[in-house]
Amino acid sequence: MLLLRNADIYAPAKLGRADILIAGGRIERVEPGIRISDSYCDAVDASPFIAVPGLIDGHVHVTGGGGEGGYATRTPEVMLSDAVRGGVTTVVGCLGTDGVTRSMAGLLAKARGLDEEGISTFIYTGHYAVPVRTLTGSIEQDLLFIDKVIGVGEVALSDHRSSQPTFDQFVRTAAEARRGGMLSGKAGIVNVHMGDGPRGLALIRRVLAETEIPITQFLPTHINRNPMLFDEGIAYAKSGGLVDFTTSTVPAFLDEGEVKCSAGLRRMLDGGVDISHITFTSDGQGSLPDFDAQGRLRRLEIGRVTSLFAEVRDAVRDEHVPLEIALQVVTSTPARILKLRGKGVVAAGADADIVLLDPGDLGICGTIAKGRWLMRDRQGLVKGTFE
Ligand code: ZN
Repeated sequence: MLLLRNADIYAPAKLGRADILIAGGRIERVEPGIRISDSYCDAVDASPFIAVPGLIDGHVHVTGGGGEGGYATRTPEVMLSDAVRGGVTTVVGCLGTDGVTRSMAGLLAKARGLDEEGISTFIYTGHYAVPVRTLTGSIEQDLLFIDKVIGVGEVALSDHRSSQPTFDQFVRTAAEARRGGMLSGKAGIVNVHMGDGPRGLALIRRVLAETEIPITQFLPTHINRNPMLFDEGIAYAKSGGLVDFTTSTVPAFLDEGEVKCSAGLRRMLDGGVDISHITFTSDGQGSLPDFDAQGRLRRLEIGRVTSLFAEVRDAVRDEHVPLEIALQVVTSTPARILKLRGKGVVAAGADADIVLLDPGDLGICGTIAKGRWLMRDRQGLVKGTFE
């Protein structure tokens, strides 16, 4: 058993100071002054720290993504320590542009590996292309038969790299994800990669206008990638939609109009968007290709899981978004949208995924996943098998 004494808890709601008792990978109790003999547990003075839920990164190319500049640009797999350093204790893995040299089998195996190494993982079935290539032959079967599969994605729209699905193809994908989600008790969410194209969210809007599929079935990501899509995202979220920001970026993209997540969160809140409709994900290990106006690749960077909390921190420190609000986009909200039970909250009965922050600089000082220290005193304690 592990007892964190007198931490300043943001669950993500501000709870004030209390003790957190952990046993068997779960949080047993969260209350002030828990009395238990030190001989029964490892008691730690957590009073110097803010304790928050372990972060959920809902869009990580755990087996590497992209490679739009040729074979030598295939991005590498994520390592356990990338997640640990970033305070990320739950990852949703996905394929991206490349569904040929990267497979669903590889994605599932990598997710299981990360799980064995110490964090919690889930996956999306499919990649950019529609019809979706699955593990078992259908989206519904993947959702029903494979525990880690929680939805479909990332399906690409409004992008030159998209498979350019017809309306029928796209709507059938969403319908199958919805049925499979309901039958398996999972989210069945359709994670949609939004490109820079002027069509924006038009295909999703058409599905909403012409079918009974609810708006919350879709989670469009990269919503901050350009000013036009960002503004459309505000209207979409205010009409009940969910929007996901991508935290990985490079200065050149920001110069070209990409909206920095921390500032974008402030703008969405000021614009009247409900915080419970916004999530951040890192797009970690994804390629960040920069194409010129003729579609030629200029350069290629790589996304980082550690960017996730960096943007939450900037939202708090630079944009004055209260911590208990900003935290929601990487904890309670993705847990609710993706139906990740026991995740995204510090509460009795939840999984013991906890991050300890320095109240001064909001630096990550400790990471506990499934009740086990992975990082302590700003030092990583556990590495991946081949790190
Ligand atoms: Zn994408």
